[in-house]
Order: sequence, then structure tokens, then C-alpha cells
Amino acid sequence: MARQLGMGTTEFLARYADNGGTTLKNDAEGRCVFVTPEGCAVHPRRPLVCRLYPLGRAVDGQGGEKFGLFPRQEGCEADFGTDGSVAGFLASQGVAPYFEWARRYGEVYRRMLALLDRLGVEGKVEERDEGPGPVVPGGPAAPEAGAEPLSAWQDIDASFAAYCEAKGLAAPRGIAESIGLHLRAMGEWLDDLEARAGRDAPDDDERKDRP
Ligand code: SF4
Repeated sequence: MARQLGMGTTEFLARYADNGGTTLKNDAEGRCVFVTPEGCAVHPRRPLVCRLYPLGRAVDGQGGEKFGLFPRQEGCEADFGTDGSVAGFLASQGVAPYFEWARRYGEVYRRMLALLDRLGVEGKVEERDEGPGPVVPGGPAAPEAGAEPLSAWQDIDASFAAYCEAKGLAAPRGIAESIGLHLRAMGEWLDDLEARAGRDAPDDDERKDRP
């Protein structure tokens, strides 16, 4: 969406994101900020959830997926019906790369949660000394809501700019390349945390004594 609007993710998050960067802002009538009389202002790059509507998708982490049908929203001009197939609808919405990116980000997310659980951390990982330090929600550095991203990792452009500078890499150009580098940077951050966790992980008694 940021690319569609000709801006970076830092500006996009500040201008159009809410709830710590996890949702899009609404206008005064409660509609998505990108609704215009001509339709969606970011239609070519609309998010996956918008591509899926009126379907909802649930995945189980083992490759299983289910789809459901949302009720029609009042005023929605989308075509509703049950004549077509789910596969045909998904193909028409160009969801394939979005599913793949969601799967890969999901893997990183689950890996991060498992690591936090292993470390006995509830809510926050401290920012690294170098690089785009991630901040997991819940700690004092996490904003309540609004323009600030909940995690530095959400600001993809800023994250991989710092990563590229640290690694002496050229900045990625395309969206797929940018996402690939972002995932790689997050993967390396988790590798580093896991290595440190191996050294620092508290045993069960230590965890029980923690406040
Ligand atoms: S398709 Fe999505 S991004 Fe576009 S106006 Fe609707 S809710 Fe907003």
C-alpha cells in the first residue's frame, strides 16, 4: 500500500495505520480511510483480507485451510453469490503471493512466540544494541495505539534500510525482494536470539521466581 501511494512504510504507518500499526485508520464515518467515491484508493495493492472478502480464511499451521462466507455488509457493492468456486474467486483476486507472504511471516511469528515462551518473557524483548531492534508488544517501549508501530519490524523500509547498511547490501527494489530481505533480517535476528537464549535461558525454578 505504501508503494501504491508513493511513500515509504515509515510515512505510511504514521499517516494511515492505527492500533500500533496493526489496522488501517477509519474516517469520521467509520469507513476505511482508503474508501473514495471511485472505490479503494489502494485497490491494486489492497491487503489480503480485502482481497478475500467476503470470504474469511482460517489456517491451522499444518497447511490446512478453511473458508467461510461473511454476511454482506450494508452498502457493499461487491458481487455476492454461490455460483462460482472458492478457487476461482481466489485466482480472480490475485491472492497467491499474499498467501505465500502470510505463510512465511506466520512461520517467523510462531518461531518468535516459541522463543519468547522458552525465554519466559511475557510481553517484551529488549531492543538490540545494533540494527533495527524489534520491540514485542506489552513493554514500556510499546505505544498505546496510533501512529507509532507496535514493533520496529512493522516499519519494513526502516528495518531493511538498517539491515542493508549493516550488511553492506544494496537496498531492495521490488516488493517481493523487499519482503524477502525483511524476512531474512528477522530470521537472522531470531537466530541471534536463539543463540543467546541457549546461553541465557532460565531454568524452571528461575522462571517461577521472576516477578
Ligand atoms: S478494499 Fe480494503 S483497503 Fe481498500 S477501501 Fe476497502 S477496506 Fe480499505
